[in-house]
Amino acid sequence: MPVAAPRPRALWDNDGVARADGQLTHEIDPQDKKPQDECGVFGVWAPGEEVSKLVYYGLYALQHRGQESAGIAASNGEQIIVYRDMGLVSQVFDENDLETLPGHMAVGHTRYSTTGSSTWENAQPTLGPTRFGTVALGHNGNLTNFLELQELADTRQEVRQETVKQATQKTNRTRGHRDSSNDTSLITELLASGTGENLTEVALELFPKLEGAFSLVFMDEHTLYAARDRHGVRPLALGRLDRGWVVASETAALDIVGASFVRAVEPGELIAIDEDGLRSYTFAEPELARCVFEYVYLARPDSILAGKTVHSARTEMGRVLAREYPVDADMVIATPESGTPAAVGYAEESGIPFGQGLMKNAYVGRTFIQPSQTIRQLGIRLKLNPLRENIEGKRLVVVDDSIVRGNTQRALVRMLREAGAREIHIRISSPPVKWPCFYGIDFATRAELIANGLTTDEICQSLGADSLGYISLDGMISATQQERSELCTACFSGEYPIRIPDSQAPERSC
Ligand code: SF4
Repeated sequence: MPVAAPRPRALWDNDGVARADGQLTHEIDPQDKKPQDECGVFGVWAPGEEVSKLVYYGLYALQHRGQESAGIAASNGEQIIVYRDMGLVSQVFDENDLETLPGHMAVGHTRYSTTGSSTWENAQPTLGPTRFGTVALGHNGNLTNFLELQELADTRQEVRQETVKQATQKTNRTRGHRDSSNDTSLITELLASGTGENLTEVALELFPKLEGAFSLVFMDEHTLYAARDRHGVRPLALGRLDRGWVVASETAALDIVGASFVRAVEPGELIAIDEDGLRSYTFAEPELARCVFEYVYLARPDSILAGKTVHSARTEMGRVLAREYPVDADMVIATPESGTPAAVGYAEESGIPFGQGLMKNAYVGRTFIQPSQTIRQLGIRLKLNPLRENIEGKRLVVVDDSIVRGNTQRALVRMLREAGAREIHIRISSPPVKWPCFYGIDFATRAELIANGLTTDEICQSLGADSLGYISLDGMISATQQERSELCTACFSGEYPIRIPDSQAPERSC
């Protein structure tokens, strides 16, 4: 009789190190990853609803913001239970897992991290004791004053230990020490050792001390909270259900669970939601520095950022690019899928028809199967296949959102030439990426960024294209319809709007 193989439950080995998967990720070339947003957060307060399922679908909609681990913490008003694991949302949770997370309130998290820190300990939501109960917390962003905050935490060790002692007497579920090395655990620890009368007071006292980028969802047994740093670097949206409230990294995640978008959580705002209603507090005056890369690549095109859909900003970037770098050609094609809105904009503005040149496998996802050497050599063909009949003999404009190392575009040019393209003109809807991000996005190292050592002509040569044009910084900013002074453009301009972290800063958590 055949025996069913057990379903793989985790992507890490006994040492807590991420186990290699098949690398068949959504990236066209896993060795040439796009800049990675490091987390998505989601929270629900909705009496009478199965909120863990709502959070599941919310995280599903935010999967692009983090594919290494996922977690949900749920509260029934008396107790918080957290379930988190390595892998995609669909790999971490099944129906039975969600049934172990009862309650009317929950927070969830999807996380991306660099390989070295991809461990279960760093998965979120984190859980910690406070003098008022337990706090579960999910974070998107990156703090830039980790060492200062660590010193603050060290000076509060006595309060912390007393809190832990009391919590341990109440329950043996709660861990009594920082269980990972990241800044999210540090925030949890500082919330545990604060001196306010309740968690709201503790948060209002702590958050002005946090520097860098943070969009947080957190909760104790009774109240759901959301908070955003005073620069508003990462997005955070508030939505309404018939019988409750939702907070999510992006508005698209509100749509997917049937919540209507109310407004963004404002920079410098803390929101508390419970049976007494929704309360809003200002913990810092806004000094806006929204991440412009959210418009270029990171956010979903169907999300709304600062009143504008990401899709319309990307399409406009394509129009600007067509004005800045026109070319005689027969067809505009996109690098699927992130280049598509800009390619459509380029086609509209230039009058050159938009066409399908590359087919992407829509079902690409992580796999447990290690590719053989033969399969590995296929490279980007695992993900993309050229439509020869559309390409042969044509002069193509190929639009993409950004170039990191250039490996993807180089392979693409080779593949299109093999399929018979006569000319290949690459157009990029963001300026050259030259600087690292300290506010929650994982880039290649400076040395790996192709634009860091080469001129545009040299990059064009290296890719084997007939021409290459990057949108200007001003052109990209104008397409977002945001004030330049209210955006972070540091990875393009090198102008950092928030103090850069100490060189000793630890690994990014999220
Ligand atoms: S440096 Fe600024 S613009 Fe670039 S990814 Fe980071 S936050 Fe966004």
